[in-house]
Amino acid sequence: MAKTILCATDGSEHAAKAVSLAVDLAANEAGSELIFVHVMERHMSMDQLGRFASHAHLKDIVEPELARIEGEIVAAAGPYPMTWVPPPAPEVVHRIGEVLLADARLEAESKGVASVETHLEEGDPAGRILDRAAAHDADLIVLGSRGLGALKGLLVGSVSQKVNHLSRCTCVTVK
Ligand code: ATP
Ligand code: MG
Repeated sequence: MAKTILCATDGSEHAAKAVSLAVDLAANEAGSELIFVHVMERHMSMDQLGRFASHAHLKDIVEPELARIEGEIVAAAGPYPMTWVPPPAPEVVHRIGEVLLADARLEAESKGVASVETHLEEGDPAGRILDRAAAHDADLIVLGSRGLGALKGLLVGSVSQKVNHLSRCTCVTVK
């Protein structure tokens, strides 16, 4: 059975399912270690950022940031539509990561998982997830099939695909 379970969350609904499964697996196996990873992504779109505006612990930081970005777009727009959208401020992206990891930890602890670690990373999401899994010698990686990505029609996102392909341990992709 899985002893060290690594679960990666980007805050999406699919990732929430992955967190729940990882927590259930860890809660059912005495002595399991549960490691949550979030990799900060700088290229969050307005839609992606907007999803966090309804979170009780993020509203106060995300709402003004959305307004700031909108203002920047309006100020920069010339006669042509803007194709470039400014990324959210690093401290906002950092706070989102902290809150997502705190939520995951709370869910695990509320279900009685004793050993929980959280890691906030930056860089290539798949690479960081794989590095973390290797560093902890994880037995199992749990991911969502999709994430915050906006591309419609995909069944499995690029992070899931890459981690599944390159992972040395069993990798579960939750649908
Ligand atoms: P894409 O990013 O390729 O446009 P997508 O966002 O729909 O597509 P993925 O990014 O592959 O799909 O997300 C699938 C799963 O991978 C998520 O549910 C989550 O478990 C994990 N994941 C994705 N990005 C991150 C991240 N930045 N940090 C931690 N986990 C992530
Ligand atoms: Mg993604």
